[in-house]
This record gives sequence, structure tokens and C-alpha cells, in this order.
Amino acid sequence: MLLVFLGPPGAGKGTQATRLAAKYGVPQVSTGDMLREAVAAGTDVGLRAKSIMDAGRLVDDETLADLVRARLGQPDTAGGAILDGYPRNTAQAKTLDMLLSDTSHGAVDRVVFLDVAEEILVERLSQRRACPACNANFHLLFKPPADDAQCDRCGTQLVQREDDQEDVVRDRLRVYADNTAPLVEYYEQLGLLVRIDGDGSIDDVWGRVDGAISRTVCA
Ligand code: AMP
Repeated sequence: MLLVFLGPPGAGKGTQATRLAAKYGVPQVSTGDMLREAVAAGTDVGLRAKSIMDAGRLVDDETLADLVRARLGQPDTAGGAILDGYPRNTAQAKTLDMLLSDTSHGAVDRVVFLDVAEEILVERLSQRRACPACNANFHLLFKPPADDAQCDRCGTQLVQREDDQEDVVRDRLRVYADNTAPLVEYYEQLGLLVRIDGDGSIDDVWGRVDGAISRTVCA
């Protein structure tokens, strides 16, 4: 099973991809998490990516292709993967097709598009808190941590990501509209798109995602 999660920042891709990955026993491949890990580890990729990520712009396609190629070459993806945050433009979508055939994964099975209105996204992202150690995400209203300051999973102090500050969020939404939104039509024309209303609680959206994927992939 090879699924792609598509949607604007704050749509809930990471949260829903985590649930789907657990249900089907395949890894979630989040390019945002991989890049944040590279930044934290101070690798060459991390050093190059940090200022670009903090500004909410896209890291270059070649770096992403290298990261995704290496990740899809690992044995735990033999049964598939849930891609979260990749591809983010048409060039990356074409590269992904090549990477999948090179790594004997076949092709993308379905693309889950989480559709959420812009004003809801800005509100969601400004209330998001992230764990810099284990990448868990919380939301001060909808998914609050037990203690406002600490990660429920590993106890690390939670932070607001640089790129979740409101002015950067607006820039990320512009980058999304210019680069990533065209992928909705791209995958629709290929007959791969599953459009999901991403408004509502995490459980409500999960009910829609789970139902749609059970019907289309496992039918
Ligand atoms: P995310 O956690 O998916 O919102 O990603 C955080 C940041 O990582 C993005 O704003 C980009 O700067 C970078 N990033 C993640 N995935 C990609 C990608 N596929 N292409 C380019 N940049 C990416």
C-alpha cells in the first residue's frame, strides 16, 4: 500500500497519516519530520534546510529526492508507506513515480486530499505545540497535552515551531497555493484522488479517512 497525504499546512496530514500507518502496519514517511531531525542532528542537509524551513519555503527538490529515495530503500517500507508532506509540487510528483519504480514499490495507490478552509488553518497552526524530541504534535484546544508545557509521550518541553508563527503561516499557505495545490488536479486527472473534508475533530476526520480508504484500497 502506497498512499500520499496531500493538503495545506495544518490540515491534519500528520495526525491522520499516523493513524492510518498504525492501522495498516506500514511506516509513515514525513519529510517535514525527516528534515527537522536533520536540523536537530546538524547534518549538511539540516544546515542547508534550517533557514528555508524557518521561513516556510520549500527545500530544494534534489535534497528531497535523496531523502525519500533513501527512506523508501529501507526494508521496513517493503509492504508500503504513508507519505506525509511529499510530493509538494509537480516535479516532486514525477520524481516520486520514478523513485517508486526504482525501489520496486510499484506506484501510488491513492492520494488523500484533506480539504480545509484557510481561516481554520491559521487558527489551528497558531495553537499547535510540538515536541522537539519525538515530533509529537498537540493543539492547545483540540488535543491539549496533560501538562501545557510538556510532551505527554516523552516529557520534553513543548515549543511553538518557528514556522507556526502567524506571519510564517501566511507565507506557507501562499507557498502551498502556488506549488502544492496544483497537485490536487494532477492526481484527480490520474484518478487517484480521494477528497476528504478535513474540518471537524480529529476523530471525525479519522472516521472519514478510514472509511474512504477501507472502501477504495481494500475493496
Ligand atoms: P511539514 O512538517 O510537512 O509542514 O514541513 C515543514 C517544512 O519542511 C516545510 O515548510 C518545508 O520547508 C520543508 N519540507 C517538508 N517537506 C517538503 C517537501 N516535500 N519539499 C520541500 N520542502 C519540504
